[in-house]
Amino acid sequence: MDFKVFPRIVKAGRRTKISVKFASQHDGVSAELTLIPSEGGDVFKENLSIKRNIVSSELFFSKEMEYTLMLKCGTDEGSVRLYALEDDLFWLKPLKGDLHMHTDQSDGEDTPAFAAASSREIGMDFIAITDHYKYEPSIEAIHAFRDINTGLNIFPGEEIHPPGNRVHMINFGGSQSINKMFGSPEYIEGVKKIEKITGHDIPEDIRHSCASCIWCFNRIRKINGIGVFCHPHWFVYNKYDVDERITEYLFKTGCFDVLELIGGYHKSETESNGLTVAYWADRQLKYRKIPVIGSGDSHGVTNGRLFGWYYTVAFAQSNAFEDIAEAVKKFRTTAVEALPGEAVHVYGQFRYVKYAYFLIREYFPIRDLECAEEGKLLKEYINSGKGAEKISKTAKKADSFRKKFFDVIK
Ligand SMILES: [Zn+2]
Ligand SMILES: [Zn+2]
Repeated sequence: MDFKVFPRIVKAGRRTKISVKFASQHDGVSAELTLIPSEGGDVFKENLSIKRNIVSSELFFSKEMEYTLMLKCGTDEGSVRLYALEDDLFWLKPLKGDLHMHTDQSDGEDTPAFAAASSREIGMDFIAITDHYKYEPSIEAIHAFRDINTGLNIFPGEEIHPPGNRVHMINFGGSQSINKMFGSPEYIEGVKKIEKITGHDIPEDIRHSCASCIWCFNRIRKINGIGVFCHPHWFVYNKYDVDERITEYLFKTGCFDVLELIGGYHKSETESNGLTVAYWADRQLKYRKIPVIGSGDSHGVTNGRLFGWYYTVAFAQSNAFEDIAEAVKKFRTTAVEALPGEAVHVYGQFRYVKYAYFLIREYFPIRDLECAEEGKLLKEYINSGKGAEKISKTAKKADSFRKKFFDVIK
């Protein structure tokens, strides 16, 4: 049975008119609608007559959860999933993002502009180019599209590598380069000062690294950025890249803003993500709630590795930096593992994980088709400088689909 249902995301605790539109002739036929709440509660059933291939019903969605709407016309039957949300979450946009990727300006393969355009092609709403030691490539990507309206928001970023410290960090959205500060007296003196204050707690061989991380995360915050602690359980050259005592210290002090819970590991390395997930769960019980993101850490968009495998789903007012930052701080970000051909896994706070699974299954695959179109246009724009109007129109299409899916005029 071929039919479309709108809206698919509704407000919890009230009635909403749900319309079912059949693709083929069903006029005058009676349809049996059954609404099943996934988390328990009363099942609702009613019989309605189909008029002009449409049947509508004011259905009551008691609380925030997923629902199945079953349809039966004679021997023909089908079902569709819907989701009811509390008011706070209903008004937030579901957004896909990747805050960690490399280009040909460090050890990646594509230009910053091409990597950015390609990210829109796979449905990203916000990204940062984060080349090793370099902040400029992220600015280059922003500049490439500064004159056009696109659904993709590109932020400044860099992967930072302080001298003598193995910890990889991301400066996401900060207004300056942290990498450039490492030779400065501000950094050298600053780290020494932190070592003096915190030194007595920390074994001497890791004292410098711990102090350097604290300095970096503090400095990122001062330039209005978000500090990401990257891939803590990366196994390389027969051991974890970061000494486990340093990882423990960073979790204990809570000095970073967000954990890269799902990092860009190749298929042979995904155990490291499993370890970080377990570590995160343990440390949340021990210390505090910890915000998370998922990142691709891709080094090329066409080599079939990492690009699009891991990403973040955020729930925010918009894809402006302040709104993404707020989503991170309020734990409204989830980390997604979506290896090609394998089952998707989502991690984060339970409420958002449940909702993200629904979106990844029911919403993003359709919405992302519009993003794919826009991504292609962005790629053409890099070479020709043409198509601004078409890009803006296509960006609006993706948002129109969201409005239809949510039944909102916003
Ligand atoms: Zn790294
Ligand atoms: Zn990286």
